[in-house]
Amino acid sequence: MKRVDKDIIKKIAEIVGEGNCTTRLEDLHCYSYDGTGKTFLPEIVAFPDSAAQVAGLMRIASAHVFPVVARGAGSGMTGGSLPIQGGMVLAFSRLNRILEIDRDNQIAIVEPGVITGDFQQAVKKLGLFYPPDPASQAFCTMGGNAAECAGGPAAVKYGVTKDFIIGLEVVLASGEILTTGTRTEKGVVGYDLTRLFIGSEGTLGIITKIITRLIPLPEHKETFLISSRSLSQATTLVAAILNHNIRPCTLEYMDRTAIGLVSKLLPEPPAPDIQAMLLLELDGSKGEVLEQSGRLGALLSTPPYDLHCTIRQAATESERQELWRARRSISPATFQLSPHKISEDVVVPRSKIPELVTFTEKLAHELGLTILTFGHAGDGNIHVNIMLDRDQEEQRRQGEIARERLFRQVINLTGTLSGEHGIGITKSAFLPLELDSTTLTVMKRLKTLFDPQGILNPGKIFPPGLAD
Ligand SMILES: Cc1cc2nc3c(=O)[nH]c(=O)nc-3n(C[C@H](O)[C@H](O)[C@H](O)COP(=O)(O)OP(=O)(O)OC[C@H]3O[C@@H](n4cnc5c(N)ncnc54)[C@H](O)[C@@H]3O)c2cc1C
Repeated sequence: MKRVDKDIIKKIAEIVGEGNCTTRLEDLHCYSYDGTGKTFLPEIVAFPDSAAQVAGLMRIASAHVFPVVARGAGSGMTGGSLPIQGGMVLAFSRLNRILEIDRDNQIAIVEPGVITGDFQQAVKKLGLFYPPDPASQAFCTMGGNAAECAGGPAAVKYGVTKDFIIGLEVVLASGEILTTGTRTEKGVVGYDLTRLFIGSEGTLGIITKIITRLIPLPEHKETFLISSRSLSQATTLVAAILNHNIRPCTLEYMDRTAIGLVSKLLPEPPAPDIQAMLLLELDGSKGEVLEQSGRLGALLSTPPYDLHCTIRQAATESERQELWRARRSISPATFQLSPHKISEDVVVPRSKIPELVTFTEKLAHELGLTILTFGHAGDGNIHVNIMLDRDQEEQRRQGEIARERLFRQVINLTGTLSGEHGIGITKSAFLPLELDSTTLTVMKRLKTLFDPQGILNPGKIFPPGLAD
């Protein structure tokens, strides 16, 4: 790949304007990191404000063959937005308009730089609901969510980003502008290119417009905290709840280490013998919520759950907010334990959560590590955090062993390596554990079709040997 030289910088500035690109070292540092804690400096950052400008930039990149890395808020957990081979970062802070909210047809059209939480608030004002709710919603972008197929607690009932995006505008490596999908709920004309781009981590094209479905805002919500003195019962309860025809819109789990980290934020300190908690929400019409609450209460008062579980209903909105603050604080609070971590977002079938959690406890014990588990239990998506002090060589090695053994166990349990964080650079070496060589070869052919020179986010997703 070519370096971004003075001639190229001049061409980029002609497209976006002098003030909308930068090569100043202090600016480049601001676009060099993401949630992994790793840093790689780009050679230039450009701030396009239209698909036409993105297309112009891609034509330059194609002609001169240098890397182009799309960047939302840089909150990704797997290195997706890191410019590991230098080149140009495309930042979308100017391409950040909500273009349309069509209330009658319950769809919206947004640019990629829109902050997810801002979009959710905007549609809420019109009585509409955009359910994908990553814990990073206050700062991550719709473009980053589309490129990673972000999910969150609401996925258990409503699904993830791919279930809500129905169309895209994408600038290809060549500079061509492609539109995919429809503005309609249904549409089966041609291949489903929309789904191909969702979760493609900026390796197939640059998303410049997103069409989303919306749904009516649920009328009522109730929040419950279930505390269990038995880890195995808490994890078995997850599948039991869903099998009792209870449809929570949130079913989050935290183990005792996670509880310990955020116990001060909970409305009431947990009893010392609590081994796990489930944060559960029900939404819908008042009648539906009442009926489901009754069913939940009945389940928890039957054996074996009546022995070890207690349930508390949030009495006020501020109590509900406290519970959520505690849940959302787990990830940042983990750094109280160690300065670094390996953070994985594996998924297993719900009924296999007890096996996964038992396995991680055993793994921690055997390898002398602190490993905590929490996350979106309702859809089997468990965040496994392996806490590390990277300066301790031995601990780092043990951490890597733990990660590989975790991945192998997840595949044995018929699970998948990532539910929402994607592959990026941190998981690419492990891809062959899940995908066979035919699948990887077909994916590589698709990549080559869309990006023959390998300029879009090089070095991401594909394992060594198949990487650009
Ligand atoms: C505290 C914290 C909590 C989190 N919780 C969750 C969670 O609950 N659920 C979840 O799913 N994730 C979570 N994440 C991870 C992260 O927020 C998501 O992956 C999010 O979707 C990334 O959005 P971003 O705007 O920061 O994208 P970035 O990190 O900037 O980029 C992510 C990927 O998208 C690509 N990309 C960005 N914009 C475009 C575009 N316009 N066109 C093409 N490709 C593009 C980038 O190249 C990169 O590969 C969390 C992260 C943090 C730090």
